[in-house]
Amino acid sequence: MPLQRDDCLFCRLVREGDFVHQAPGFAAINDINPQAPVHVLVLPERHVDTFREIGEFDAGEAKRMLEFVAETAKKVGLTDYRVLVNVGPGGGQTVFHLHWHILGNVADRADVPAAVREGAA
Ligand code: AMP
Ligand code: ZN
Repeated sequence: MPLQRDDCLFCRLVREGDFVHQAPGFAAINDINPQAPVHVLVLPERHVDTFREIGEFDAGEAKRMLEFVAETAKKVGLTDYRVLVNVGPGGGQTVFHLHWHILGNVADRADVPAAVREGAA
């Protein structure tokens, strides 16, 4: 297990295992307070406080993290979606363990039947 912080909520959640998707070094969970019909968070196991410290990941790990974001969106059935990182309190960050928001709509889920998609707002 890479660098973790005892006092960090997301370090705890990446150990607990209630994941929508997982790969070595990364986990994805549902956001507890969704801001879209589909709202998933991608967490690296390695603790870095913010996106500013992205350089602490080596090139391979950074690439795998981005691929994991795309794989997670696909795994939860999204074809179209937003990927967002809040950086620092002024950027809306509230949990200081790097995480990527994936926001999507039921209408953009490939696995939702057409009748449901058409009825979705
Ligand atoms: P940010 O504001 O970018 O730091 O995002 C933090 C996100 O973590 C928010 O969208 C919260 O709803 C979410 N969050 C906080 N606590 C939990 C939790 N226990 N499980 C899942 N998501 C959480
Ligand atoms: Zn952490």
